[in-house]
Amino acid sequence: MRYVSTRGEAPVLNFEEVLLAGLARDGGLYVPAEWPHFAPKDWEALAGLDYPALAARVMRPFVGDVLGEDEFTALVAEAYAGFDHAAITPLREIAANEWILDLFHGPTLAFKDVALQLLGRLFDAVLARRGERVTIVGATSGDTGSAAIEACRDRAAVTIFMLHPKGRTSDVQRRQMTTVQADNVFNIAIEGTFDDCQGLVKAMFNDLAFRDALRLSAVNSINWARVMAQIVYYVHAVLALGGRPLVFSVPTGNFGDVFAGYVAAQMGLPIARLIVATNVNDILARTFATGGHTLGAVQPTMSPSMDIQISSNFERLLFDLYGRDGGAVRGLMAGLEASGGFHLGEQQRRAAAALFTSHRVDEDQTLATIGAVYRQTGALIDPHTAVGVAAGRACRQPGDAPLVSLATAHPAKFPAAVEQATGIAPRLPARLADLMSRKERYVTLPRDLGAVQDYIRQKAAP
Ligand SMILES: *Cc1c(COP(=O)(O)O)cnc(C)c1O
Repeated sequence: MRYVSTRGEAPVLNFEEVLLAGLARDGGLYVPAEWPHFAPKDWEALAGLDYPALAARVMRPFVGDVLGEDEFTALVAEAYAGFDHAAITPLREIAANEWILDLFHGPTLAFKDVALQLLGRLFDAVLARRGERVTIVGATSGDTGSAAIEACRDRAAVTIFMLHPKGRTSDVQRRQMTTVQADNVFNIAIEGTFDDCQGLVKAMFNDLAFRDALRLSAVNSINWARVMAQIVYYVHAVLALGGRPLVFSVPTGNFGDVFAGYVAAQMGLPIARLIVATNVNDILARTFATGGHTLGAVQPTMSPSMDIQISSNFERLLFDLYGRDGGAVRGLMAGLEASGGFHLGEQQRRAAAALFTSHRVDEDQTLATIGAVYRQTGALIDPHTAVGVAAGRACRQPGDAPLVSLATAHPAKFPAAVEQATGIAPRLPARLADLMSRKERYVTLPRDLGAVQDYIRQKAAP
């Protein structure tokens, strides 16, 4: 499989090169040159496979001959061996013709593990073969740093440095990062805010001498391999429910997760509709409704992993909506940069509406949905999942295909909102039960680029 940039001016790459590059050199995102297609009988032939075997088959066309079939299959099996549930992404029925798809059985209790557990191993496999190593540097406000750390821990070719704002994450979030005992994991508490942390990471990437000397890399959500790994659970859900078309409701921030559903549909998977569920940070809901894609200020909510304004992976959808014209995408992105927005053409908006619906869910509705699902079924859902369920229910039409809402985080990851809505404090699963008594390991550094770079230089393996 060859990969092209959404902005049309970067070299065409293979899977290995795309994996290591992340962002394209023209500022665009890589996508496959064409979508592989599975006929109905091809999907049928996959029914009954366990999750790792299914995953290896669904991802195979994207990986091509970069990894041998046996090597890739073994790597996928290892990526999902650490999940808490035998089905990896099990479905639960919460009402008639309504399911939730649990994506939080990985090591850090959020759906990002599904992709990152594989990504870390893919990095290791291709770097080992090249005899190379990378230094991963990232910043986190608390929600997503642990998934990246768990992805990189114990990987021979990777060292990871994760910056978090000191004293500004919850204890559980900090401990999920700082109690990881691995020689290649370094947590840095910065005396500053999350924006300071992000600014420091950006400055390190812009310091080209430092960047090259340490071979800096990132595992952020624009990496194609993350999208690829997320296609699998859409297939798993459709096959588990007998192969009929489904409506998926997807709690959305950076548009990576729901874009994977779009790719599954392009591959021929029967998907009736994709509901792009947003919290009050509703730039995508506005875009699908009116065509206007205009940035606002980020508002903090109880579903913080969806508190975004710039939805990076949306560019991948734009590329298809504009007939894979990189020049058109460059024009839209220049508008976003220069004036904080662009307007989707009416033809493109209508084409998107054939598959996508979007709905905004406010904080009261999120709490009410956590409460309602608990009273109806006894199940506790986290606030991100609740945004998906609320949007799915609001967009439902009579005679619709069955509704599957993606459960993107374990309720114990966001206990305050769950307790406020239900009166019940969700418990951490057994694997994390002793989290609060584990030994922590991190350094505190000032908000100073030189100090952070000195520390990383000193700790990064040569
Ligand atoms: C990252 C995240 C999301 C948003 O996913 P995107 O792929 O960025 O749209 C939703 N819920 C949780 C819990 C997340 O961590």
